[in-house]
Amino acid sequence: MAEILIVDDSRTSRKFLREILERNGHTIVAEAVNGEDGYLKYKEFRPQIVTMDITMPVMNGVESLSLIKKENPEAVVLMITAVGQKDKMIEAVKRGADEFILKPFNEAEIIGALERI
Ligand SMILES: [Mg+2]
Repeated sequence: MAEILIVDDSRTSRKFLREILERNGHTIVAEAVNGEDGYLKYKEFRPQIVTMDITMPVMNGVESLSLIKKENPEAVVLMITAVGQKDKMIEAVKRGADEFILKPFNEAEIIGALERI
């Protein structure tokens, strides 16, 4: 069971992720609405795991991932990606992403990804 920070600009996505994670015994320590907010909340809450959307205003998920990994190379960041984001996914791997989950969400896939990390 982990303490998790959800970073996603979509309120619906955040709500859906929270429901799945809480139902499986995890604790959501905070939610962030863009990459910059995610980085600041990471520093504030030091969650064990971050779920990171890619496409967000202000700062995207790949840039936020970089900042978080610079802050703490041991940070565990699980990227949430949509179809057609292959370039962004490759960039995220280079910057140290730990796992990927494809939108639309599927509970079994999310739980499987969390078990792998
Ligand atoms: Mg988004």
